[in-house]
Order: sequence, then structure tokens, then C-alpha cells
Amino acid sequence: MPAIILDGNKIAADIKKEAADEVRRMRSAGTQPGLAVVIAGDDPASNIYVRNKVKACEELGIHSEKHALPESVTTDELLELVQSLNQRDEIDGVLVQLPLPKHVDHRRVLTAVDPLKDVDGFHPVNVGNLATGRPGLFPCTPLGIMEILRRENIRVEGAEAVVVGRSEVVGKPISMMLLNQSATVSICHSKTRNLPDVCRRADILVAAIGRPGMITRDFVKPGATVIDVGINRVTDLAEFERFFSGDGKRRDSFEKRGSTLVGDVHPDVAAVAGAITPVPGGVGLLTVAMLIVNTLKACKTRRMGEVAQAERA
Ligand code: NDP
Repeated sequence: MPAIILDGNKIAADIKKEAADEVRRMRSAGTQPGLAVVIAGDDPASNIYVRNKVKACEELGIHSEKHALPESVTTDELLELVQSLNQRDEIDGVLVQLPLPKHVDHRRVLTAVDPLKDVDGFHPVNVGNLATGRPGLFPCTPLGIMEILRRENIRVEGAEAVVVGRSEVVGKPISMMLLNQSATVSICHSKTRNLPDVCRRADILVAAIGRPGMITRDFVKPGATVIDVGINRVTDLAEFERFFSGDGKRRDSFEKRGSTLVGDVHPDVAAVAGAITPVPGGVGLLTVAMLIVNTLKACKTRRMGEVAQAERA
């Protein structure tokens, strides 16, 4: 039986609708949540991400502002901007888009963000909150994965979960969230031995690697839930054929655009998995939705005096 497709479009739309209702309630109580996004340099992908984040806020009635700085910006100038945003009461979330220019000390800049406004969840205080099961603001992509699992009724407690990738942005935080919800978690990386054997143990397999189609059918236990975080652009026709041979619709779009997106999971895995997130249309869409959720949470905690509930994640 082919895998159930976990539809990121629908889940993201549901979350945004709930957020829009909440923003309406907050605004009628006199509070408009606000997000400031800081971007430096002119990386085209970062520009698209920032545009999507600002647009999503505008659509939902959240105040948003973009601070675009040149590639030549210094660490001190960025620190000054972040500190001024920390001090503005109407700004609830401060997001510094990565990557920053190479000469900038990105760790210092991220640590300068007020932990209560750290809607990306990268500040060491929030990393510590997640690791110790305390309330806080946590990274958006892993939060989105947990929302997919929760809303699709995929049992985490007691499940064998295998995460491939140990980045600060995805691999480590999703491992911690799965552990906090009582999965038995294995974290894999480039030095892991017998990776396919470890992955085959998984009831829930999360791939956050950045290597197109690396997780093939032989990595997957039949019936497992497979979460594909990877976003890789394929421009080479031979590589396209390796993933999508026989997919006429995708071929048309590839020819028109000159590229297509593929995850870290080979599309053939859908034939053995029990449920799978597609690329595009899966986890990627949840990242912006969870940024909105984090912005509202930051606003409620800091300005409306709401005590954050024990974290679901
Ligand atoms: P990183 O490059 O920071 O981390 C990749 C991880 O994969 C590392 O831990 C690395 O191991 C591991 N890895 C690399 N090669 C192998 C291998 N051959 N076998 C086993 N493990 C390997 O990537 P990110 O976590 O930032 O991103 C991962 C993917 O997710 C990318 O495609 C990215 O575009 C996508 N992404 C998508 C988001 C979304 O919104 N959907 C958000 C963020 C990322 P080691 O540590 O040993 O080097």
C-alpha cells in the first residue's frame, strides 16, 4: 500500500487560520504582535525566505518590519541593531536571518537577541530550556515536524525515532523534542556506522542531511513514518531522471523552470513507508507557520503576562 502523504499545505493553512483568529483576539484586546527580521547581504535564497516571513505576518495582521543591511555590515553594527530591537516594546520577535556574511561573528549576534524575543529559538538560553524540558521559544522547523506528528495522530511515545543530521537548526532540536515526548531516539551523522541498519529500526525516521535522495528504500522499515526535511535543488537532467523517471508532470515543470526540488529521501520510499512528507509541500511550509506561532507566544508571554504552558514539544 503506498504511503499516506502528510500534507504540509493543509497543516500550515490550519495553523495560520488559528493564528489569524488569535491575532484578531489580541488586537481587539489592544495588542498587536510584532516581528522584526534582520537580513545582511544579498543571498537570493535568504531574500526569498525573508520575503515569505514578512508576507505571512502581513496577511495575518501581525506588524512586521525588515531591516536589510549591506554585505559589508560589521558585527558591532548588527549588535547595535539587535539591541535597539530588544528595547522596543512593540517588537515581540527578533529574527536574524542566517547565513550572515562570513566576517560577522554570528554567534555573538544570535546571543545578543533577548531570549524572550528569540523566535528562531537559537539563543543558548532557549537551547537549554528545550534540553531541560522548560518552557521557552524553540526552533521553527522541528516545531513544525512535531505539529505534523501531533495533527496526524502519529504516536511518538515509546516509538523508535531515528534522526539523520545533528545540526543546531534541525537535527539536535528535533531529537530533543522527540525525546521530551518519550520516543527512544538515535541521532545519526556523517560518522555513523551502518546507517541503513540504524535507520531501519525507526518507526519515525527524520532526514535532515542536505543530500538529495540519500535515504533510499533499503533505509526504511515497511510502514515507518518518514519526515523529509531536506530541500535540494536539482538542475541536472541525469540526476532528475534518477529521482523522477516516469513522472511526466514533474518533467514538464523541470523543463519549464530548469530545476526541481528533491528532499533527502528518495521518492521511491513512498512505496514502503506508512506515511511520508512530500518535497515540496511538506515540512518546509510549516517553518513559516511555526514562526508565526512563536511570535504570538513571545507576545503573550512578554506583554500579556501569560505564563507559557509546559511545552508540548
Ligand atoms: P547541515 O549541513 O547543518 O547538517 C547536515 C547534517 O547531516 C550534519 O549533521 C551531517 O553530519 C549530516 N550528514 C551529512 N552527510 C551525511 C551522510 N552521508 N550520512 C549521514 N549524515 C550525514 O544541514 P541542516 O540541518 O541545516 O539542513 C539539512 C537539510 O534540511 C538541508 O537540505 C536544508 O536545506 C534543509 N532544511 C530545511 C528547512 C525547512 O524549512 N524545511 C529548514 C532547515 C534546513 P556531520 O555533523 O557529521 O557533518
